[in-house]
Amino acid sequence: MNKLIDRLYLDNYLDKPDLLNLLNNMNTENEVYLLKRAHETRLKVYGDKVFLRGLIEFTSYCKQNCLYCGLRSANQKAQRYRLSIDEILSVCGQADKLGYKTIVLQGGEDNYYDDEKIIDIITRIKADFPKTAITLSIGEKSYESYKSYFDAGADRYLLRHETATPDFYEKFHFKLNFENRKRCLEDLKKIGYQVGAGFMVGLPGQTKEHLVEDVHFLKELEAHMVGIGPFIPHKDTPLNDKKAGSTNLTLIMLALTRMFLPKVLLPTTTALGTVDGCGYEKGLKAGANVIMPVLTPNNVRNKYALYDGKISIGNKVSENKNYIIEKIENAGFTVSLSRGDNIDWRK
Ligand code: SAM
Ligand code: SF4
Repeated sequence: MNKLIDRLYLDNYLDKPDLLNLLNNMNTENEVYLLKRAHETRLKVYGDKVFLRGLIEFTSYCKQNCLYCGLRSANQKAQRYRLSIDEILSVCGQADKLGYKTIVLQGGEDNYYDDEKIIDIITRIKADFPKTAITLSIGEKSYESYKSYFDAGADRYLLRHETATPDFYEKFHFKLNFENRKRCLEDLKKIGYQVGAGFMVGLPGQTKEHLVEDVHFLKELEAHMVGIGPFIPHKDTPLNDKKAGSTNLTLIMLALTRMFLPKVLLPTTTALGTVDGCGYEKGLKAGANVIMPVLTPNNVRNKYALYDGKISIGNKVSENKNYIIEKIENAGFTVSLSRGDNIDWRK
C-alpha cells in the first residue's frame, strides 16, 4: 500500500480501482504513512500556515429537509433565529478588530434573505471592511443570483456536494438532486468565485466506493476549498439512532484530498473537533490548513444545531480565537491572518 501512497504523492492522482484498493486495505502503518505524505504535501505548498476564517451563522431557518441536519424544515423542535444586518455588521467589526481577513456567512436556505437583502449585506460589509474577503454558504441558487452576489463583492462560495453518487444523494435529500448541486458548483466556478465543495464521512450506508467517487469529483471540479467532517447524528432527525463517522476515516479522507489537490484550502472542521477532543490538531496534521472559529453571537449560537454536542468555545469572539490559536500553536503550526486565497486563484 505504501507504494500506492508514494505514487499518489508524486502524481497527485490514483485511478478509481487503485484508490479503492488503498481505502479497502489500509492498515495502521499505511495510515501513518499516508498522513505523513499529506503533511509533506501541505508543507511544500502552504508551509506550516493555518488560515483563520470567522464563521457567522446568520440564520437557522431552512426550507430544505436534508435527512441528516438539525435545521431541516421538518424539525419543529429546532430553535430558529435570524441576525439583522446591524448584528452581522457588528460581528464583522469585532472580527476586523481581531485581525480576521475572511468572514464566512453561513445559514439555512432561508427565503427571508432574498437577493436584495443578501446583496445589501455584502455591499455594506465591503463598504465598512473593504479588505475582508466574504465567503457565502447559503445553498443552492440560480446562476443569476450567484452572479449578483459576486458582482456585489462576494469572493468565495462553499457548497458541499455531500456525495457524488446520485442515487445515494437522493436518499438524503427531498426535492434536491445531485445534478442541480453539480450545476450550482459549475456555475460558481464559471462566475469566478473560489469554490468549496465537500462531504460528510460516515453517512449511514456510505461505502468506500462512494468515497472514491467523492475524491474524484473534487479532483475534476478542481475545488479551491474542500470541507470534510464526520456525520454526527441529531436527536430530532430521522437519523437520530445512527452512529457518528469515525475520526480515523475522516483523517484519511482529508489526507487523500490534500494529495489529490495539493493547493486546496482544507479546513479541520468543528464536526471533527466535536467527535474527537484532539480532532482539530489531528486534522491539521493530516493536511488541513484552515480553521473556521465560530463568531455567531453567544445568545443564538446554540440554536445553530446541525448535530448533537456541537462544540462551542468561549462566550466572546476573542476567547474563541485565543483558544483556537493555542491549539494551532500547540500542534506545531503558525497562525496566518492573511486573506489566505487559494494560490491558483486570481479574480
Ligand atoms: N444550508 C447550506 C448548505 O446546506 O449548503 C449551508 C449550511 S449547512 C448546515 C453546512 C453543512 O453542514 C452541510 O453541507 C452538511 O455537510 C453539514 N451538516 C449538516 N448536518 C450535519 C450533521 N448531522 N453532521 C455533520 N455535518 C452536517
Ligand atoms: Fe438546510 Fe443546509 Fe441543513 Fe440541508 S444541510 S437542512 S440545506 S441547513
